[in-house]
Amino acid sequence: MSNKIIPYGKQDITESDIQVVVETLKSDYLTQGPRIKEFEDNFAKYVGAKYAVAVANGTAALHLCTLALGVQPGDKVITTPITFAASANCVKYCGGEVIFGDIDSDTYLLDIASVRRLLEESPKGTYKGIIPVDFAGRAVNLEDFKKLAQEYNLWIIEDACHAPGGFFIDANGKRQLCGNGEYADLAIFSFHPVKHIASGEGGMVTTNDESLYKKLLQLRTHGIVKDNNLYQNSSAFAGESNEYPLWYMEMQTLGYNYRITDFQAALGNNQLKRADIGLEKRRTIASVYQKAFADKTFLRGQSGVVEGHAYHLYIIEVPNRKELYDYLRSHKIFAQIHYIPCHLMPYYRNFGWKEGDREKSEQYYKQCISLPMYPTLTDQEQAYVIELILKFYATR
Ligand SMILES: *Cc1c(COP(=O)(O)O)cnc(C)c1O
Repeated sequence: MSNKIIPYGKQDITESDIQVVVETLKSDYLTQGPRIKEFEDNFAKYVGAKYAVAVANGTAALHLCTLALGVQPGDKVITTPITFAASANCVKYCGGEVIFGDIDSDTYLLDIASVRRLLEESPKGTYKGIIPVDFAGRAVNLEDFKKLAQEYNLWIIEDACHAPGGFFIDANGKRQLCGNGEYADLAIFSFHPVKHIASGEGGMVTTNDESLYKKLLQLRTHGIVKDNNLYQNSSAFAGESNEYPLWYMEMQTLGYNYRITDFQAALGNNQLKRADIGLEKRRTIASVYQKAFADKTFLRGQSGVVEGHAYHLYIIEVPNRKELYDYLRSHKIFAQIHYIPCHLMPYYRNFGWKEGDREKSEQYYKQCISLPMYPTLTDQEQAYVIELILKFYATR
């Protein structure tokens, strides 16, 4: 093999991507122009949701969600320890309290039974919401979560950063796309370069709820309203006559600047056109790994090929994980670990979390490793990764 590094994930930027960005740079708008709405409309269509709001990044998307849902200091929210820290942090931004459930060892997703246990242990009303994560690209069964949420009067934010195009099959045998707003109040996506669709930095919130949609739009831009019908100051205050002048606007709530730029939206929108091709390639790569490792006894578990899986990551669980990681790295294959359990991060330990609190997540962490998985990974590169892994375990 050449000296090229094979990472665990990587963006794919084509000539046409470059062209749309350059075109936008030459246009009248660098930000707040027409490319943003175009990207939002196409993305909403892609995931089957009514509304989409493009934002600066996935973390800003999460923060807007907790703001729009009105998370207050002390509010308790449940999420999974096996996720990127931002899934939990968005609760802390609003002063809320994060309670971690545990994962299902087979799916690596937030275990609904662990969530139910938490809910049953406390008086009703203790918890306000759940943030399930379509971890690695595998869709959470939100139909089940929605039933539980209704029972306890909870909202749901679906962290779908890993799963644009992913789906689960509902009780009627129907495909439910991640972020389609059918069960979750809000869903979020990220367009960081390692994710399926890259825009540099970028994120999206999707929803079917019109009132949440309007709140998101307002919070994204400083809490500013520009609509004659919604003003709170009288028109007499606003202008000398009894009409609101054209310059008029009101800042009605404390919002942020979480906007995306037009050239990022142009890039994201162009990438979205190839999203299905990329997804297809990811599923092919997964099936090649699956076949290569099918009868290998060193495997403790693997995500396998699951219908609707969007394969942001391809994870296997193995013994001698650190040695394998170092061995691959010495051959310029940069595998990665997803994730160090969030509850054991020093920040969350401040709130009393400690080893042993979430056993399945901690056990999973000890042996998981994410193998290279991205649409431009060549057959030859993948064969090389597989060959090295088989060689590594042949002598152990
Ligand atoms: C990437 C990611 C985020 C945050 O997205 P950014 O765009 O990097 O802010 C949140 N949750 C999960 C699960 C992610 O993978």
